This record gives sequence, C-alpha cells and structure tokens, in this order.
Amino acid sequence: MNKSFYTVEKLEEGTFRIDECGRDNCYLLLGEEDTLLIDCSIGTGHLPTLLSTLTRLPVTVAATHAHGDHAGAGYQFPALFVPKEEITLNFRIQNLRFYRRKLLSNTMKKQGITKKNIDGSIFRAKWLPMEDGRVFDLGGRTVRTFRVPGHTAGSTVFADETRLLLFLGDSICPVLPMHTYRCLPLSSWLPGARRVLALANEGYTMFCGHGDGRMSAELLAQQIAWVQEILKQYPHNETKHRRAFYPEFSAEGCVGFDPANLY
Ligand SMILES: [Zn+2]
Repeated sequence: MNKSFYTVEKLEEGTFRIDECGRDNCYLLLGEEDTLLIDCSIGTGHLPTLLSTLTRLPVTVAATHAHGDHAGAGYQFPALFVPKEEITLNFRIQNLRFYRRKLLSNTMKKQGITKKNIDGSIFRAKWLPMEDGRVFDLGGRTVRTFRVPGHTAGSTVFADETRLLLFLGDSICPVLPMHTYRCLPLSSWLPGARRVLALANEGYTMFCGHGDGRMSAELLAQQIAWVQEILKQYPHNETKHRRAFYPEFSAEGCVGFDPANLY
C-alpha cells in the first residue's frame, strides 16, 4: 500500500474527490449512517486503507460504469454495485490485471508507478447488479441514480438530491469520450445529456471521472450543440471506424466521436 498514489480533495463537508495520480477520480459521500464510494479507480493503491482515514462508517461501493479505471479496484471491497447491463464477461475481461496495467498513463509512470503497483484479481470482485433508478440512502443524504447511455450502455449518473451534486463518471466530461471502444452511437447520448443539463440548470453542481473533476453547465450545453452539428454534418454513418474530435481536440472541451458510430 502506498497512500501517496491518491490525493484527497475535500469538496465540501462530507464530500471528497479522490484523485488517482491525475488519472481518474472517485468520490466519497458521507451520510449519517452509511457512506457511498462512487467509482474505485484502477487500484494503484489500497483504497480501503485510505478510506479508513476519512470515515469509520461502512462503505458502499458503486461504479458509474464497468471500465477498468472506474471499477478496477472493486476486488479490494466485499462487493461492488455495477450497472446490471455491464455484468458481462467482456467487462470482466476489461478489468483483468493485464488490461488495467495497460491503463497506466505517462503521468503515472513519471510518478514512479509501475505495472507491479496494479495488482489483484477481478475474479475476487463481487459485482452486484445496479438497476436504473436505484436509490442509496446514506442517512440524512439520498443519492438517486439514472442512466445516461452513450459512453457505455449502462453509464450511470449519481444525483445527490440532498446536496444537489451530480457525479457523472465518463457520461459527460470536458473531452466527451464517445470515441472509445464499444461506445453506443453518438446520437443515443443526447437524451441523457439533456436530462443532466436540466438538473445543472436547476442548481446541481457536476463532477466527472477525469481531470480535476470539474464540468460546467455552459460546456455541457456547448457539447450538446456540437453533437447536433456533428449529426448534421454526417447524415449517415461512415463505413470505416476512426477516432475524431469536434470542433478539434482540446482538453478544455470537445467531443470525441467515431464517424462510423453515429446512428
Ligand atoms: Zn469509461
């Protein structure tokens, strides 16, 4: 265990962002009786040890989706809620140690993290099916989930209805990841994104699964407009798969997509 692999940022009283070497974010929400850990990172360190410095309450773990950088460390906990659509052999394979080791970023390597730091067998992880609309009652704090399909079929957003916070995973990020392996068609992302924007306009603050976690309502509105422009430019799917960015790649905000996977 090396705690320095994780950086903890207190977002407000009882709400923490846990940054895994600048690679991905998990969020810890404290209630009066229970706590919820949203996503659990690749697993470069031992998260339960870190969490024990933040709370003595039991921890319920749930993943926004089953990619290895969000569900990978699930084996460190007794059980992990995963969107039920994603309890498949394919997603299990994506969480194997071999594939999680491939997720090491250059930033992580610069910090001295090697493949050896990523351990643990996914077959030790107990995946519990998470239905659409599942509610987590933490005692004085209620978190309701809903699907925003697109990045994956089961991509889930967690809405903290007590504190008006939204945890997005990869459903919505400044660089919208709709160009990665096995995303749904780009057009399928719009309804869920509009639902999230409506909540943001009602006063919810958004946090996403990568970077510093910040995501603004203005950028989300812009991304929705960009996606509509892409669909106008490409009335049909192209035949050849490729990775594209609109209007161009920018870490500040853009849409990643595959012109062969729009409809
Ligand atoms: Zn993902």
